[in-house]
This record gives sequence, C-alpha cells and structure tokens, in this order.
Amino acid sequence: MESDEPREPIIGIDLGTTHSLVAVCDAAGPRVIEGPLGERLLPSVVRYSDGRLSAVGSEARRRAAEFPSETILSAKRYMGRSYAEAHALESGFEFGVVEGPRGLAALRGGGATVLPQEVGAVILAELRGWAERALGKSVRQAVITVPAYFDDGQRQATRDAARLAGMEVVRLVPEPTAAALAYGLGRSVKPETIVVYDFGGGTFDVSVLEVTPDDGSGMGAMFRVLATSGDTQLGGDDIDRMVSERLLREAGLGAASSARPGLSPAARQALRDFAESTKIALSVQESAAVDVNLGNGVRIARSVDRSELEEVARPFVDRTIALCQRALQDAGNPHLDRVVLVGGSTRMPIVRREVARMFGVEPYTALDPDLVVALGAAVQGALLGGIRRDALLLDVIPLSLGIETVGGAVAKLLMRNSSIPAQAREMFSTSVDNQTAVRLHVVQGEREMAADCRSLARFELRNLPPMPAGIPQVEVEFTVDANGVLQVRAGERRSGQRASVQVVPSYGLTTEDVDRMERESLTHAREDMRRHRIVDLAVNAALDVKWIGDALDRVRERLDPAVVDAVDQELHRVRGFISLVKTAPESVDANAFHQAKEFLDRVSVPVHEAAIAESLRADQRAPHAVEPVRSKSGGHTPRSDS
Ligand code: AMP
Repeated sequence: MESDEPREPIIGIDLGTTHSLVAVCDAAGPRVIEGPLGERLLPSVVRYSDGRLSAVGSEARRRAAEFPSETILSAKRYMGRSYAEAHALESGFEFGVVEGPRGLAALRGGGATVLPQEVGAVILAELRGWAERALGKSVRQAVITVPAYFDDGQRQATRDAARLAGMEVVRLVPEPTAAALAYGLGRSVKPETIVVYDFGGGTFDVSVLEVTPDDGSGMGAMFRVLATSGDTQLGGDDIDRMVSERLLREAGLGAASSARPGLSPAARQALRDFAESTKIALSVQESAAVDVNLGNGVRIARSVDRSELEEVARPFVDRTIALCQRALQDAGNPHLDRVVLVGGSTRMPIVRREVARMFGVEPYTALDPDLVVALGAAVQGALLGGIRRDALLLDVIPLSLGIETVGGAVAKLLMRNSSIPAQAREMFSTSVDNQTAVRLHVVQGEREMAADCRSLARFELRNLPPMPAGIPQVEVEFTVDANGVLQVRAGERRSGQRASVQVVPSYGLTTEDVDRMERESLTHAREDMRRHRIVDLAVNAALDVKWIGDALDRVRERLDPAVVDAVDQELHRVRGFISLVKTAPESVDANAFHQAKEFLDRVSVPVHEAAIAESLRADQRAPHAVEPVRSKSGGHTPRSDS
C-alpha cells in the first residue's frame, strides 16, 4: 500500500439506523464531508415507487408521512437478520417485512422487495458520491462502522451492502472503537479501560473497551470490547414523548392515547416537535417558552424550566445508568480511565452529570456527539492508508494555549512545547461594574493578540452576582490530558458559579500550520509585544481612572484644591491615552502612556488616603470592597460581557 501513489483516500462511514455520515482524514485530521446542500447527516431512509428506487435521504425522510408504505426506514435493524428474528422486532413502520432468500428478512415497499443490505447499498452509494464530489477523485475504499453487538451475519450483510455500492470494506470497526479513535485514544503509554456511552434518539448502547497502546510494531493500538449492554427502545424520543404527554395532561387532554379525540395527527406531530425543540433549548438555557396551538381552541403557552425537564428525563437516564452498571459488571468491574459520549441525547446536562457521577470520570465531550463515530472511522481509514496523522499528536503542546482578555490580548496559560499531560491555573477578574457574565475565548498560537491566533472555543461563565469591577475572582484552569484533549474550566470563587468546555486543539492543524504560526510570531514579535503592552496598560489604566474618579467625587470637598486640580488634569491625560488605544493604537507611545499612568497613581495618593479614611468612618468593612482591583498581580481581565 505504501507505494500506491497517488493514494486513493480511505473514507470513514458511519452507517446509522436513522442517519449516516461520511468523513475523511488527512494531515489536518478528520473532518465530516458535506452533501450538496451543505448537510452533514444523510437520513438512512429510501423510498421505492412502482418497484423502483424513487428517493434517498432527506427527500425520502421529508415525505415519509405522505408515502408511509413506500418509505423504508431503519433498515439497519433488519440487516443480516432471519425473517423470524425480524418479524419479532416491533417496528411501528408501514413497510412490510417478508421472508426473503435463505430465510432472511426482506423489506417490501412501493412495489419493491429488497434485502436490508440493498437499502444499505443505496445509502453507501449516496455517501460515496458526496465524498467523490468533495475530494474530486474516485473513492472505492471505506472503513464502515457497525454496532459492537453485531454478529457475523450482520457484519457480512454490511460488507455485502458496500460491495453492492461498488466499494471495498477495508475494515469494519465497532462504533465504540471508532468513537475512541476519534479522541486519539490508544496513544497513552499504558493500557486503558474506556466506556463509550451512546445515547441517541431511539437507542442506547454502552460498551466497555480495553485499549492496548501501539507497541511500535505498526499494528496500531488494539481495541478489545470487554462488554456491551443497551436497549433498542430507549432514547431521546422517549423524553420528547413524555414531555408532550405532560403538556397534554395540563391542557386537559388526558393520558396518552392515540385515539385522543379532537387532536389531529398533525397537531400531535407539532406537539412532539415542540417538545423536542424545548428539550434541545434546555440543554443550553435554564428555561424555554412553549407556545403551541393544537387546534379546536386548545393552546399551550407557558415556560418550561430545566429542572422540570430533568424530572421527566430522569427515569430514562436512570435506565441508561443501570445498563452501564450491568456492562461494568460483565467486564469484571475494571478501573475506568475514560468515558466517551456519543449520540445527540448526551448533550443534555443531566446526562453528562449522571454519567460523570456514575463513572467518577469527567466524560469526553470535545467532539460533536453526532459526528464522533464517523470521524473515528476516518481516522482508522487514514491509519490503514498509511497517513501518519500521529505526527502532530505529539507528547508536547505544539502551540501555546490561552484565553483572550479585555482589549483583545492573549493571556497564555500553557506554553508551546510543554509536555503533556499539562495543567495551568490563573486568576482573572471583571472590568465592568455589575458584570453578570464573563465571556471566555480559548485561543491557540504564538501571537500576542487573539485576532492573530487560532480560535478554539468560546464559552460563558454566567449568573454572576453583580459586583464592582475587579472584585469577582475568576479562576481559569487549563488541563491537557495524555490524549491531547484540552479541558478549560472557569469558576468564580465568591458565587461558586462554574462553566467548562473541551476541545481537541490538534484537530484541523497541520505541521505546516504550526511552522507558519511560529514563523509569523517571530516576524511580528516586536509589534505584538508593543500592542499587548498598550492593551494591558489601557485595561489597568481604565480601572485606575474609574476608581480614582469615583473616589475623587466622594472626597473632593475635603482635599486641597491644588491636589484636586492636579488629579483632574492627570485623569484627563490618561483618559486621552485610553481612547487613543481604541481609535489609533499604532500611534500610542507605550512609554509615555506608562509614565502618565504612574504619575496619575502618584498624584492621587491623597485621594486614596481621604477615600479610605472616609470609608472607615462610614463602614468598617468597606475598604475590603475596593482592594482587589489593585492587588491583582497579572492584571488580566477576561473580555467583558454584561
Ligand atoms: P442521534 O440518534 O445520535 O442522532 O440522537 C438524536 C437524539 O438526540 C434526538 O432525540 C434529539 O432530540 C437528541 N438531541 C439532539 N441534540 C440535542 C440537544 N442539544 N439536547 C438534547 N437532546 C438533543
């Protein structure tokens, strides 16, 4: 394979029950390939009319209700199953399940009788087309993922589907193994036990894997499935259904019943859609408004908060946790090193919380849980194709990691070439009074200004109680673990509010990028340092100006008029520098600015003294409320956002 130049890419395909995806991995890491409309998920749905294929993917899914008996959904559930087995699966679909050749299950709809692998082939051929169009070359080889519990017959049917689509399966990879590969697991020096928790729309699967690292023999890391467990009738759809039922009961429409008088199928569907979008909104918001008109004068309008949703979701989440316990037991209760989350329902905070609690490990969430399996399949394809992506997955941090501070400068927390695992912590504060949120922007690179670095993630620390600028103590912690996954946590000490985000900084980064960014930082070093310095000066000076200005207003009467005049004059001068930094930063003389700020500090000593004396008289505790601004050592203030 090594001499096969130019090489055809080996793509990765997640052939899913409800939707499928295709991804590819090159020197910049894996990425999902989009369809002609920019879509990333292809619904695993096809339609036959008059015995012939008439629609694939979103078109077939969109009009499924219009053509119920012609549309074939969830064909993966029938893959490689005997007719007897398939018959026992309650499908809830309108297409037929009939006995095919050799006692196998076949599907009948729209005048066609097809084997599930033929449906799979249609989906695979569509994804192959997406890949060929995006890559501009022919693609024949693929790594395809299958559930860990697929037996030989089901695996063979998947291979047949690929063959029918004109493709060669280079390897079938279990879905949990692919999820682990997407996170680069298997690169640590010691064997690890990992759990892959996959909670989707209709199904739940949990797998316990043992990963033995690459021993340098070129075989790559070895993944062994120790145990699996799951429930094919447990998913986010159940939560939507329960939310709809609760809303209906409230509207006086009684318990769930498909024969509910006065509620059209369209109204029921609208309610389920509303329930789902409310659930999704509550993954990021604390409360969401519901306003749905069910016809016949029934309208449900109110707000739902996250705790109410969690009350509804809890029994389902608890069931997944019980299945995890069973899988762990089957695996012999090993010590767990990592937990990887897959499937859209793992975006729910209650799921993340309960999974973390059950396993005692913070789960990996850096990658989109809908894409992680396809990304991992692409990584496997690249490894089999001889693309040494691990060249960048080093045991050091290739580019510095930091956060953007007020004024657009970067506070670097972890320096380039630090060896991993690595950890750093720094204290920050706010720059605006009564700021109730701090926006954190995680960046990567060697330049001094965030705009010149690579943006990795943004998140917010919210619900801070209003406090004067500089008082909140925001601790930001960066942790890069042995797999190169970065976790950024922020917490405000007084209020206990916390927020966090995960990223894989090496994704989308090539060795050339690293070289270029390093070169640019050298070329711009002098100008960058100057800009960073004036931005920091401006931020600190703004805090000084505000404090001194406020204090002066309070004690003006008590001071010598000459002192007041001098302070007013210096305040004016420093304010001029601050506004110049905003409007024409290139014309600011950093040394002159620095001197002006120092001078202001000196002339305002009597203001400080008078203000402190006054505060002591007014309230014994007051001086503490103004100290921290000035005692900040680094002077870093994350970007403000009130
Ligand atoms: P999957 O089968 O992996 O595509 O997962 C689909 C399920 O994930 C559906 O039940 C969705 O409602 C659910 N889902 C997708 N995004 C979110 C979200 N942000 N919060 C909660 N559930 C979500």
